[in-house]
Amino acid sequence: NENILEVKNLHVSFKTYAGISHAVRGVDFSLRKGETLAIVGESGCGKTVTSKAIMGLLPAQNTMIEKGGGAQILFQGDNLLDYTENQMTQIRGSKISMIFQDPMTSLNPTMKIGEQIAESILIHTQTSKEHAMKEAEKMLELVKIPNASKRMKQYPFEFSGGMRQRAMIAVALACKPEILIADEPTTALDVTIQAQIMDLIGDLQKELNMAVILVTHDLGVVASVADYIQVMYAGKIVERGTVDEIFYQSTHPYTRALLNSVPKIHSNNKETLYSLKGTPPDLINPPKGCSFAPRCEYGMKICRMQYPEETKFSHSQKCSCWLHHPKADVSGLPENMIR
Ligand code: SF4
Repeated sequence: NENILEVKNLHVSFKTYAGISHAVRGVDFSLRKGETLAIVGESGCGKTVTSKAIMGLLPAQNTMIEKGGGAQILFQGDNLLDYTENQMTQIRGSKISMIFQDPMTSLNPTMKIGEQIAESILIHTQTSKEHAMKEAEKMLELVKIPNASKRMKQYPFEFSGGMRQRAMIAVALACKPEILIADEPTTALDVTIQAQIMDLIGDLQKELNMAVILVTHDLGVVASVADYIQVMYAGKIVERGTVDEIFYQSTHPYTRALLNSVPKIHSNNKETLYSLKGTPPDLINPPKGCSFAPRCEYGMKICRMQYPEETKFSHSQKCSCWLHHPKADVSGLPENMIR
């Protein structure tokens, strides 16, 4: 299965009043056609910055993307970091689409839903308005909006939250992109609607055979749809693996802490959820060693001195943590933390 996207050594920094913030610090990953990858982490970990870098949506005036050091974002073999804004405009919405937490940020409140979907088709393909409107109606049916022909003529405010999210997905998928990036697509919705939207994304992914990148702070929502998960912390990927590897054999203390904060379906509500103490580090002066060290209950001396290399556990599972390194002094640490 060929890679449709390869991100290599991505570094993104922002100029801020307080100094240069190193938001993404050497991120590498690849995505194959038809695959669903979840990027998970707390806010500020670099997950949204990574996806916006892929889309070319970072504000030019204060963003610095390093071009040296072999940095590349290869889409079907072409380096998007070399693309002009014009070239990116052609790709966005047609080859790579993005949906956000709040549909109102991408839907136009003054335009009928059907016209918005048709417009997206008309911008990227040579076709008649009539044909685009027919396609738009098909898209509304595809995202399972009832009474599509009537809904075509309505405005976003006439839709419920869940229906608006479906409409935004219809706009994003109107040109049948190769990649859909969904950034916290269900965070603003209630739990039942969340599950419906995740199922819909899963169904559409199969139907259109597109690759999906799901960006979320909530490991719980990706379990049923993702193939792979990568966990980000302070601008780096700290652990990656298949869904089963991350849920049942995670090896990074941060991944474990995230898992412990996912509510269990069968919990009796009396169970107290583990909540991660402390805050992520300041990325203007990131720590020298492991960025999780100030919050980690297993931290060792070496953790504060040097960043851990990735240890490979399987073809898919890798983890950056000194606990798994032969050089580390792990005496006295709980056995279940060491593999
Ligand atoms: Fe904790 Fe050290 Fe592993 Fe970082 S490298 S997660 S501080 S044990």
